[in-house]
Amino acid sequence: MSLRIGIGGGGVGGLSAGIALCQFGHDVTIFEQAPAYRRVGADINLTSNAVRALEGLGALPALFDAAARPTFRISRAWDTGEETSRLELAEMAVRKYGAPQFTLHRGDLLDALLARMPMDSIRLDHKVAHVETSADSAVVKFTNGRQNNFDVWIGADGIHSATRTALFGPESSKYTGIVSHRGVFDRTRASLRDMDAFVKWWGPTREIQLATFPLSRGREIFVFATTPEPDWRNESWTAPGDVEEVKRAFAGFHPEARAYIDACTEMTKTALYYRAPLPQWRSGRVVLLGDACHAMPPFMAQGAAMAIEDAVVLARALDAAGKFGVNDVLSAYERIRKPRANDVQQQSYDNKWLKAGGNADWLYTYNAWTVEL
Ligand SMILES: Cc1cc2nc3c(=O)[nH]c(=O)nc-3n(C[C@H](O)[C@H](O)[C@H](O)COP(=O)(O)OP(=O)(O)OC[C@H]3O[C@@H](n4cnc5c(N)ncnc54)[C@H](O)[C@@H]3O)c2cc1C
Repeated sequence: MSLRIGIGGGGVGGLSAGIALCQFGHDVTIFEQAPAYRRVGADINLTSNAVRALEGLGALPALFDAAARPTFRISRAWDTGEETSRLELAEMAVRKYGAPQFTLHRGDLLDALLARMPMDSIRLDHKVAHVETSADSAVVKFTNGRQNNFDVWIGADGIHSATRTALFGPESSKYTGIVSHRGVFDRTRASLRDMDAFVKWWGPTREIQLATFPLSRGREIFVFATTPEPDWRNESWTAPGDVEEVKRAFAGFHPEARAYIDACTEMTKTALYYRAPLPQWRSGRVVLLGDACHAMPPFMAQGAAMAIEDAVVLARALDAAGKFGVNDVLSAYERIRKPRANDVQQQSYDNKWLKAGGNADWLYTYNAWTVEL
């Protein structure tokens, strides 16, 4: 059964869904608000569960070309620099979880996905304004005045999802009091120990932490810092930050940690919000995926992974629509994905992931292509 499917948002989750649904033979169009794809953002972490899902989308060769594979995961004390833990990462991920782990620039992940999606199926400069659903179709209005009907509409329109607002009203979110600062520097700008590893500097409080790791096959180094800031509320992937402000906040940290911040020439800054799990992900012929329904703080590095898993499971569920009916398979998708995504969302907020060891098998061995529907 071939369905006419519209996807709001051509980010990580929207493109993944688009590719998977095309593979199953549906008539798919993605509507992205941006007038063009630009290299925006910084890091994306792809743990083995995400890489396995992307493999089925045919994106693996491009990821091997673009990504880095951190050698170790190292924890250090913020002031003395003492190493408190060291885990092998690169080959261990393949041995233990059956797929590699990648760290890469978000732009490189989007390029890898865009190369797998027919460009004439993507409408740029189409911002979703409103969505309505009946029992057997969805009507979508765009801010440019256009309107389209679909058998199924997928809201993959990110943290400030217009689809979610149209279905369920304004969301409630709570500011955590923490902001994150992200920077990327060219490796040639510094010569530091551990540039090929994932290093987390655990600060004196849970609000102030620093993580660094390689991107782009090690040609770029990513710096992620969090600080407490009671009065900043702006949640944006693109808002400029201030490197000098970050340097001041980390003045008491070990010189080696500070050297990573010193190497940055610019940073972005965003407020981190807590969102409680959404009670519902679908209504009629409209369904959500990714950040639109389970945006999470970045402390488990699972935002992109959960969106990609959603996309694959949703496409597989819709493949069975001819047998069970569209409404039933959309309910099945929600039933299968919600417990896992909500759990990861909550644990990301708790920010204790792998701090004192722990078993990550349940997270990293998940296979979106074979999980029972
Ligand atoms: C510009 C940008 C930069 C980012 N940078 C990082 C980063 O550095 N590190 C990181 O970990 N995560 C980053 N993210 C978020 C990360 O990509 C997501 O958390 C994750 O991949 C989940 O994917 P998603 O598809 O649900 O959402 P996203 O990848 O955020 O995709 C949502 C897409 O929907 C589009 N959109 C939003 N509203 C509308 C609308 N009304 N109509 C049509 N289209 C709409 C957006 O432009 C975007 O392309 C960034 C996201 C964006 C949009």
